[in-house]
Amino acid sequence: MSTPYFADNRENLDTLLTESRSAGHTIGLVPTMGFLHEGHLSLLRAARARCDIVVMSLFVNPTQFAPADDFEAYPRDQERDIRLAGDTGVDIVYAPAAADVYPDDFATWVEVRGELTEVLCGHPSLRGPEHFRGVTTIVAKLFNAVGPQLAFFGQKDAQQAVVIQQMVRDLEFGIDIVVCPTVREPDGLAMSSRNRYLASDERNRALALHRALQTALRTAENGAVDVGEVLAPAFRVLRDAGIEPEYLQARDAATLRSVQRFGDRPVLVAVAARVGTARLIDNVVVPAL
Ligand code: AMP
Repeated sequence: MSTPYFADNRENLDTLLTESRSAGHTIGLVPTMGFLHEGHLSLLRAARARCDIVVMSLFVNPTQFAPADDFEAYPRDQERDIRLAGDTGVDIVYAPAAADVYPDDFATWVEVRGELTEVLCGHPSLRGPEHFRGVTTIVAKLFNAVGPQLAFFGQKDAQQAVVIQQMVRDLEFGIDIVVCPTVREPDGLAMSSRNRYLASDERNRALALHRALQTALRTAENGAVDVGEVLAPAFRVLRDAGIEPEYLQARDAATLRSVQRFGDRPVLVAVAARVGTARLIDNVVVPAL
């Protein structure tokens, strides 16, 4: 397919979108931090199937990284990303400069408060609510810049998707949030730009995340309802692989409130762990009985 249009600032983006806006075309946005893999491409394909104009943003957002995080090391390959975006039928790649997104006098933040951003990755001892404040701020800015009717996110970042849905409701963005399934390597490892940090022995160990989640799923499917009972064998899978998770928890898939039982409603089982230098997350949703 053809090379997408490229906008590296808001003015260029507005010029590219003027016609589509006045023609009433459906605009779909796929926010990414680049270094595209099949997970990203699945969102782009979903957007292509449902929208007249597909905009992919490409921005490694500094405000969602803590000082000790991998912002500098985060893998980047803009040329390849643009090519893959074009191959997938993206119309416009929007890659603003950090200095334009966050000028020196930048002072406004979008923050979803409460449990949603304080549990799982938002726990103060882990990435903390500040991570989600960075995410919601950049996503709100992208929503304002692009003006999409639909925006596409991955279930791989389940908490992020729930937080964004909350923000869209609270701030009345009027944008349909489409959450697409997690895309995995053939052996089950959830695709992530951070997988490239894994040495080959670490990559093998990282597979235990998926195995642990599948174990929890099967245990629930076999009739266990108590959270402790469902998670115990999953913890064992991680321990046997030498992985001490940051968390392995069961939560209401829609609200992220803690649950005691499986079966009453869809339950998100989410895991985060460091494997070598890579911080990996993954999850599975156990449907209601
Ligand atoms: P990122 O570039 O990591 O910020 O991800 C951009 C979007 O791609 C987010 O909505 C992610 O949830 C989504 N994404 C990342 N990895 C996957 C995956 N393996 N499957 C589906 N979506 C993904």
